[in-house]
Amino acid sequence: MDKSQIISLLQSEGEERSELFRKARETRDKLIGNKVYFRGLVEFSNICSKDCLYCGIRKSNDQVIRYEVSDEEVLDACRFAWMNRFGSVVLQSGELSSPAFVKRVDRLVREIRKLSDNELGITLSCGEQTRETYQRWFESGAHRYLLRIEATNRDLYRRIHPDNDYHSFERRLEALGYLRESGYQVGTGVMIGLPFQTYEDLAGDLLFFREQDIDMCGMGPYIEHEDTPLYEFRHLLMTKEERFDLALKMIAVLRLLMPDINIAAATALQAIDPAGREKAIAIGANIIMPNLTPTFYRKEYQLYEDKPCLDEDAELCRNCLEARIQMAGSEIGYNEWGDSKHFFKRKGTGR
Ligand code: SAH
Repeated sequence: MDKSQIISLLQSEGEERSELFRKARETRDKLIGNKVYFRGLVEFSNICSKDCLYCGIRKSNDQVIRYEVSDEEVLDACRFAWMNRFGSVVLQSGELSSPAFVKRVDRLVREIRKLSDNELGITLSCGEQTRETYQRWFESGAHRYLLRIEATNRDLYRRIHPDNDYHSFERRLEALGYLRESGYQVGTGVMIGLPFQTYEDLAGDLLFFREQDIDMCGMGPYIEHEDTPLYEFRHLLMTKEERFDLALKMIAVLRLLMPDINIAAATALQAIDPAGREKAIAIGANIIMPNLTPTFYRKEYQLYEDKPCLDEDAELCRNCLEARIQMAGSEIGYNEWGDSKHFFKRKGTGR
């Protein structure tokens, strides 16, 4: 598939669009099966040193009450995941690189392995770090890492981030390289429907994923947040429904481009459509991240407006997901890590 073909799929309507969705689902079912894997998500801190222009927990947003979930609470949430046979957890946070933060994540990773008899798989999503930090966390037992590139068109990247070295595209790209070298299954992704973003940019994002030979992808619609600088450009946005539809098409096209990677049904989909994640599962995604952050903290991890499940506790979340996934015609891979098949294939060929 070349760029113009991808653009035409991203713009498809009617019969052509249905055909895209049907093919994407068929490709997933054939190549990796119809199982969906759970990653219990713990947003363990919203303290962030970055000032990304789109993000509700950016450093300069003083409307947010900053929190750190205690180690004990993080471990309780992970124990819940383990007891409920989730297979894996994701630890996500704002971006810090202080020695105390690095040490804390390291300790949590070890503790999670210990409490679950090494059964819980661990994905980290804690932003850009040094090569040494990534290696350290990997050695302690994390084996997947999600670091979204956010936008691969350099000009667009500039427009949605402060213009300084601390928010540089090159650094983020370099970090993805360190992750790969350290041995992780590497995931990245972008936001879909950003102001100034074109279909060509999105097609470029998909080709970037293939070029980078990624193992996993998490991408979802951009949703404006009123306490961020990018809110000013909300008049340029597609409707939320259009962004949602475009996100589904991005997932479907990526499934065709990279049939054996893991693709997450991003939580942001659900902020627009209550059945958003299940719709993504029905057209080719295979990962879902039930939120296990203690409810008390959740309202302060508002990356965007209308973030779902703000007041549902983990038990409720699990029950509602189970029913929804069955409705989408998939099965849950309980107690399995659900690793990226692509990762093992590339390892087998020494890439
Ligand atoms: N600090 C980590 C985790 C960031 S939060 C890191 O830097 O990787 C996870 C993701 O939320 C981000 O990568 C971004 O793509 C997404 N996000 C942030 N603000 C958003 C918004 N307004 N709408 C949709 N997604 C958003």
